[in-house]
Amino acid sequence: LKRGGLVEVISSAPSLEDIGGYDPLKEWLNRRAGAFGTAARHYGLPAPKGLLIVGIPGTGKSLTAKAVSSTFGLPLLRLDMGRVFGGIIGQSEANLRSVIQTAEAIAPCVLWIDEIEKGFVGSQSGGTSDGGTSSRVFGSFLSWMQEKEKPVFVVATANDVSKLPPEFLRKGRFDELFFVDLPSPEERARIWEIVICRHRRNPATYDIPRLVRVCDQFTGAEIEAAFVDAMFEAYAEGDEPKDKHVVEAVTRTIPLARLMDSQIT
Ligand code: ATP
Repeated sequence: LKRGGLVEVISSAPSLEDIGGYDPLKEWLNRRAGAFGTAARHYGLPAPKGLLIVGIPGTGKSLTAKAVSSTFGLPLLRLDMGRVFGGIIGQSEANLRSVIQTAEAIAPCVLWIDEIEKGFVGSQSGGTSDGGTSSRVFGSFLSWMQEKEKPVFVVATANDVSKLPPEFLRKGRFDELFFVDLPSPEERARIWEIVICRHRRNPATYDIPRLVRVCDQFTGAEIEAAFVDAMFEAYAEGDEPKDKHVVEAVTRTIPLARLMDSQIT
C-alpha cells in the first residue's frame, strides 16, 4: 500500500464505547462481533457483507466505520472514492479493480468507503454527465458486493441519501442500512461524557444536564468543537475548563442544523 494510493490503512481504532448513540447499529454489530472468527465459520454462519450508514456531517459516521473494524478485530482500509474517478478512459474501472484486489488480498478486512455518493455523480441521471463512467464503476461495485466470496466487510458512509442510486439501497447488497439523525438529548449527554473524557477531563465535574439543554440541534462534532473552544478560553485564563466556559462556547456556536432551518423558513 503506497502513500498517496487509492486506499490507506487506518490504524486508529476507537471502540463502540467511544460513540454516543447508534444503539441499533451497536446491537447489530455486537451480535456479529465474532462473525469473522473460526468458530462462526465452523458453525456455518455466512460472513456479513457490509453496512451503509447515511447521515448528516459530524454525527460520527467516520468514528463508527473505525469502530466496526475494532469490533470485528479486522484491519481497516479506507477508500477515497473521489480518487477512483479520473484519468484516461477505462482508468476509473481499472482503479476500482485494483482497490478490490488489494482488499481481497488483505481479507478478512473492513473496507470503508467514505462519502460514497461523491463517486456517483451523474449516475442518477443515467450517467450521461461523465460519459457513463460513474454508472459503469457503480455497476461493477454492486456486482462485486453481491458476488464477493472473500471476507471483505464494506462500510459505506454517505451524507446524502438522495444522491445514491436506488439500486444501492436494494436488499442483498448491504446487510443493513442505518440512518443517523441529530443526537437526542440522552445521546447528547453520552457524547458530552465521551468528549470530556477524550480531552482528559472528568465528566463528573460538569453539569451535564445543563450542557445538554444548551446544545439543542448540535451534532457530536459540534459538541466536541465547543469543548475544545472552551479549553482554549480556559487555558488563556490560566484556568481549567468549567461549565461556564463550555456554556459560553456553546452559545458562540450556531449549529449547522439551526442555520439550515433559518434559511428554509
Ligand atoms: P463527516 O461526514 O463530516 O465526515 P461524520 O459523521 O463522519 O462527519 P465524524 O468525523 O465521525 O463525523 O465526527 C467528527 C468528530 O466528532 C468525531 O471524531 C468525534 O470526535 C465527534 N463525534 C461526532 N459524533 C459523535 C458521536 N456520536 N459520539 C462521539 N463523538 C462523536
